[in-house]
Amino acid sequence: MQKISVKRPIVEIDGDEMARIMWQMVKDKLLLPYLDMRLEYYDLCLRKRDETDDKITEKAANAIKKYGVGVKCATITPNKARVQEYNLKQEWKSPNGTIRAILDGTIFRCPILVRNIPPAVKNWKKPIHIGRHAYGDVYKNQEIRVPGSGKGELVFTPADGGAVIRLTIQDFKGPGILQGIHNTDASIRSFATSCFTYALDQKIDVWFSAKDTISKIYDTRFRQIFEEEYEMNWRKKFEEAGIDYFYTLIDDAVARIMKSEGGILWACKNYDGDVMSDMLASANGSLAMMTSVLVSPDGYFEYEAAHGTVQKHYYRHLKGEKTSSNPTAIIFAWTGCLKKRGGLDKTPDVVEFGKKLEAATIETIESGILTGDLMKVAEPNPKNKQVYTEEFIDAIAERLEKDCKFGCGK
Ligand code: NAP
Ligand code: MG
Repeated sequence: MQKISVKRPIVEIDGDEMARIMWQMVKDKLLLPYLDMRLEYYDLCLRKRDETDDKITEKAANAIKKYGVGVKCATITPNKARVQEYNLKQEWKSPNGTIRAILDGTIFRCPILVRNIPPAVKNWKKPIHIGRHAYGDVYKNQEIRVPGSGKGELVFTPADGGAVIRLTIQDFKGPGILQGIHNTDASIRSFATSCFTYALDQKIDVWFSAKDTISKIYDTRFRQIFEEEYEMNWRKKFEEAGIDYFYTLIDDAVARIMKSEGGILWACKNYDGDVMSDMLASANGSLAMMTSVLVSPDGYFEYEAAHGTVQKHYYRHLKGEKTSSNPTAIIFAWTGCLKKRGGLDKTPDVVEFGKKLEAATIETIESGILTGDLMKVAEPNPKNKQVYTEEFIDAIAERLEKDCKFGCGK
């Protein structure tokens, strides 16, 4: 049988360590036998980034701008230890940060649900997606350890020479702490646009939460921009798609999420998204069961697994040991990308293949064939069997082969 033809190129961004090993296995056993695709390949392994003075990362991001859709393997963000380990010219910046800065995106995370790993919250039936604003607030702050009595102030000096705005934050009578944070209208608007784009793509409601009752200027500005954006550009499209947007206070959102059955996008401010996405990953069992996609306000998509390079497993792999690392999120990064590529290209067979590969992966896990991380969290069952990564991928391939007998594949 003929391979399925993927009409337009996909930007493939390779990475490091165990994630790179799994990446290759997934391609060799689950993708290339079935798909005829043109891959614009960028190798972002740490050595290549060092060799090219990190230019390769910028090229990869620009390729996503050109082709619209990319898929990325986890990469090492170097620290001092890595600079030594790889004898690097310098401590290169996080590739994800560089790519995000070029595409101006927002990151969405979503757990992959399987029946035999029940979420910690029993009424969660559908995935809860989190959209985290990845700019500003406490992540780009200035802080002062106040040594003793004195006045803490907030000052804005206009560039055009206008009147200085000065507010007293606190008249300190003794030692304390002080912090200044900011955000920009442009970044908040781009966050809102990305959230509405993603939710419409997924056909799910959007909840946006903040604390505007307390933060009457800062958080209120977030709320206003979301509302303006929704009314101006999205309400009609949302109504046509049968989905909804609403704003609620962050504490109300937290309370409601526990009672909800999921199937929503929860748009979170930077700190809330940081905390809540980790809670969600843990409540759903394993880091390797979490997908991540960067959506730019211009409609570019970059898919990846939420986990890192799985360094500890890689060192065992280098010693010749077999590991039971979980490739599920990597597989879903590829299927997400294929479904998007197929959707944009209007090639339903590519979308269909992505869905079949997802189903084969989920069914494999549900049949009790598990990697080590899943073995620890799956419901006990005599059928459960821990397998090595390669065996796990082989089991998926076997299922896919059966599913694909009529319609896709070799
Ligand atoms: P990590 O690679 O996500 O791994 C942390 C731990 O989580 C692992 O040691 C393992 O636990 C478990 N784990 C994660 N993914 C798994 C999988 N697929 N299968 C089974 N277990 C899995 O995070 P890290 O160790 O903090 O970071 C390692 C490197 O990844 C760093 O150099 C960091 O810069 C990079 N990183 C890259 C990205 C990215 O490119 N998107 C994201 C995060 C981190 P056990 O050891 O207990 O089995
Ligand atoms: Mg976090």
